[in-house]
Amino acid sequence: MEGPKEPKIITDKNEMREWSRSMRAQGKTIGLVPTMGFLHQGHLSLLEEAHKHTQVFVVSIYVNPGQFSPNEDLSTYPSDFNGDIKKLMSVPGGVDVVFHPHNLYDYGMGSVGNSEGGIERDGVVSCVEDGGLGHETWVRVERLEKGLCGKSRPIFFRGVATIVTKLFNIVEPDVAVFGKKDYQQWRIITRMVRDLDFSIKIIGSDIAREKDGLAMSSRNVHLSPDEREKALSINRSLSKAKAAAGMGQMNSRDLINTVIESVQEAGGKIDYAEIVDQESLKAVEKITSPVVFCIAAWFGKVRLIDNIEISG
Ligand code: AMP
Repeated sequence: MEGPKEPKIITDKNEMREWSRSMRAQGKTIGLVPTMGFLHQGHLSLLEEAHKHTQVFVVSIYVNPGQFSPNEDLSTYPSDFNGDIKKLMSVPGGVDVVFHPHNLYDYGMGSVGNSEGGIERDGVVSCVEDGGLGHETWVRVERLEKGLCGKSRPIFFRGVATIVTKLFNIVEPDVAVFGKKDYQQWRIITRMVRDLDFSIKIIGSDIAREKDGLAMSSRNVHLSPDEREKALSINRSLSKAKAAAGMGQMNSRDLINTVIESVQEAGGKIDYAEIVDQESLKAVEKITSPVVFCIAAWFGKVRLIDNIEISG
C-alpha cells in the first residue's frame, strides 16, 4: 500500500504556472483550494470536495496582506506550515502541490514590503496601499462586496477578489473550491468568474463544524475556553431560527431579533445579523425564496462569522 503523499512545495509563481501547464499538457485537470493556512478539517473538506472534480490538486497557503486593514489581525494571524503539510498528507489522495509564495505583491522593484507600501506580516500591518511603484490594480465586485462583512471591512473583498484573481492567473486551475462558511466570499468569487469570463468552475462546499456546532475557523484558536463556550450561541440560535422558519415564521425581523438577543445574552457583540437572498445577498423582509441567515459577532477579540441556508 502507498504511504501518505508528500506534496511538492512551490514558492515561485513562475514555477507554479509551469507545473500547472505541464499537468495540462499531460491531459490532467487541476483543482485549486486557496487558503491562508493554519489548516483545520474545514479546509481539508474542501480538498476532499476538489477530489471529486479534478485529477491533480493545488492548495495555496498565503496570508494575503491585501485583504487586511491596518487595524486588523494580519500580524497575529496564526500559522503552522509544517503542521499544515502533515494535515494535507492525511487526506486520502493527498495534494500534489502546496503553493506557498512569500510575497505575491513583490514585482522585483523593491517598492512593496517597505514602510511605504507596507505588507510585512510582522511589524507593518497594512493593506498594500500607496506602494508607488508597487501594486495598484484591484478587482472589485461592486455591489456584492458592500453589504454584510463589507460594511465593517470595506477593503476586504477587494483584497480577496484581487488575490484570487492572481492565484487563478498563476495556478490556472480548472476548478476552485471555496467554503460556504465565507458565504459572501463564495458568491463574490462566483460572480467575478462569471463577469470576467474566467474559465474556471467554482464549487461552494458546506460548512465544517466542530461536534458542538461551532464553525471551524483558524481564528478559533484565539478564543478562551469561556469565549468558545459562549460562541456556541451563534450556531445554536441560527439553527433555532431555521427551525422556526420551517414552522412558518417567515418574518425576517423577528427571526433576526431572536438571534441577536441570544448571542448578546451569551456576551457576544453583534457586527451584523441579516437574512439575505442566497444569490443577490440583498436583505429580504419575508422568507419566500431561498435565503441565507448571515451573522458576524465578536467574542472577546475574535470576530466570528457563520451562516445557515434556509430554503424558503
Ligand atoms: P481561510 O484559510 O480562512 O482563508 O479559508 C480558506 C477556505 O477555507 C475558504 O474558502 C473558506 O471559506 C474555507 N473554510 C474555512 N473554514 C471553513 C469551514 N469551517 N467549513 C468549510 N470551509 C471553510
